[in-house]
Amino acid sequence: MHLPMIKKKLTGLPTKPNWLDSEQARAAFSWQVEALELAGLPGGGMNLAYEAVDRHAMGGAREQTALRILDRQGGHRDISFGQLSTLTNRFANVLKTLGVAPGERLFVLCGQGLELYLGVLGGLKLGCVVSPLFCAFGPEPIETRMRLGEGSVLLTSESLYRRKIAAIRQHLPALKHVLLYDAEGGDTNAVEGTLSVHRLLAEAADDFDIARTTVDSPALLHFTSGTTGTPKGVLHVHGAALTHRVTAKYALDLHPEDIYWCSADPGWVTGTSYGIFAPLLLGVTSVVEGNEFDAERWYRILEKQQVTVWYTAPTAIRLLMKAGDTLARSHRFPCLRFIASVGEPLNPEAVWWGKEVLGLPIHDNWWQTETGGIMIANTVSMAIKPGSMGKPLPGVEAAIVERKADGSLVFLEENEVGELALKRPWPAMFRTYLGQEERYRQSFVGEWYLSGDLVRRDADGYFWFVSRGDDVIKSAGHLIGPFEVESSLMEHPAVAEAAVIGKPDPLLGETVKAFVSLKSGFTASPALHDELLGHGRKRLGAVVAPKELAFMQALPHTRSGKLMRRLLKARELGLPEGDTSSLENPS
Ligand code: ATP
Ligand code: MG
Repeated sequence: MHLPMIKKKLTGLPTKPNWLDSEQARAAFSWQVEALELAGLPGGGMNLAYEAVDRHAMGGAREQTALRILDRQGGHRDISFGQLSTLTNRFANVLKTLGVAPGERLFVLCGQGLELYLGVLGGLKLGCVVSPLFCAFGPEPIETRMRLGEGSVLLTSESLYRRKIAAIRQHLPALKHVLLYDAEGGDTNAVEGTLSVHRLLAEAADDFDIARTTVDSPALLHFTSGTTGTPKGVLHVHGAALTHRVTAKYALDLHPEDIYWCSADPGWVTGTSYGIFAPLLLGVTSVVEGNEFDAERWYRILEKQQVTVWYTAPTAIRLLMKAGDTLARSHRFPCLRFIASVGEPLNPEAVWWGKEVLGLPIHDNWWQTETGGIMIANTVSMAIKPGSMGKPLPGVEAAIVERKADGSLVFLEENEVGELALKRPWPAMFRTYLGQEERYRQSFVGEWYLSGDLVRRDADGYFWFVSRGDDVIKSAGHLIGPFEVESSLMEHPAVAEAAVIGKPDPLLGETVKAFVSLKSGFTASPALHDELLGHGRKRLGAVVAPKELAFMQALPHTRSGKLMRRLLKARELGLPEGDTSSLENPS
């Protein structure tokens, strides 16, 4: 049995944490003071790409490696801040020459390679609103998002264009320009109706006069993960840079000398806010790796690239756990000093696994596409309570509330379960749901943004995720969060992953059903089925424990790796599946 808390020694560390005392940091914090750290555009205004690249390129970090881009063969290519500045200027010039105007929407369907950075940062320099998409999306999800976003420019590879765009292009009337590159990042052969971006880049000028955007200018269009329904288009502004910068310093403890790896795909907000921007904003070198998940390769990257700070997600950690401890222990990570995770509740089992097998506990943190950046976190200087998502960061005011029928809010006390609310504004707060202005307004009550997640806060101020509002199970008068049940099932040595839903029941309201995938070396059997139900009853008690359990080869996830409980529930109850555009591996 594990202890309830992981305490840390904060003296004598090779890297001094950015903030040693979280409470003191909270008390002293001011966004206005932090904003002084932004350079601002020469002559006025503020641009995210300028903050991320040019301010370093014009200063002492010009020659420093911004990106270490890994290839499949085990080699890499380093891009300095100076080079990135010139290349993104060129990309902005390419757009300008084509007649693209500030405010137009640029969609970026690129793997994690140089073109992704040129598209996102070059587009921001011109003042475009940039929307990165998952390369693994099929044509339909791409079409839906590009239509909603009225994308007028698309940057993608020739192969992705042929496989995913060519057939839908006629359905995208707003799309004026398609810029292509080939698999090696070179010229493309002429594909009708498209342009070769590298040919245009070669002809473009090195200097560019960055658009006079301000902190309130639209910059990014992200789509939510689609875990609970149809993905929403979430609009963010250039000023989000301040949240990215501050939270990367505090929640990820990034220092300029770090080698940082964010293993999230840029099609998910994490892969953009913390994959692209946060490290660049702090002048930190990022490892850029875009291949499919492979446990052995991931360990090799951490080891060989001497990664110091790694930001990942529970789904990846669970896959690493599934691959077995022996594989992990065959590698050494002497440089690694901080691991963080976001996207789903992180089971205590996973936090401890990190500590015992990788040598470091995993720091869970919480945020959403809508918040644009980390809001609640286990930071480097805090003791971890495994299973808790930590405490609100400096500059973040969080409360737990109940929304009454008359629209007013009741503020709940310690240990009461309610909706997580955040006091507005903060720099990376979203500015609208595209095409759903009313829904946007509905998500605020006075000065509070309501997240839709149910949480509780303990006596020490730690926040505990209970459930998404939509996933909560009501059984015999009890509120049951799937996470609690799933975490308990995962404590059983055979279980790799578990997802829990509520099934209507005439007597109890709902009963709990669990879906379980097994670790390698274990086989589904009636005996294991009964053993797992018994394990649940013993740990959770009869009311909360699953009454039914089914084995699955793999559980359904979104592209960002989140369990899609709503899909399991729809299938179980024979209901329509709803929007499945973000489903990973649709059958
Ligand atoms: P959609 O809004 O389309 O249903 P989504 O909410 O999964 O999808 P994201 O914005 O990517 O889209 O995810 C944010 C949500 O992920 C949060 O509201 C929360 O439910 C969950 N989440 C993120 N981090 C954590 C965490 N550390 N612990 C628990 N849940 C988390
Ligand atoms: Mg959401």
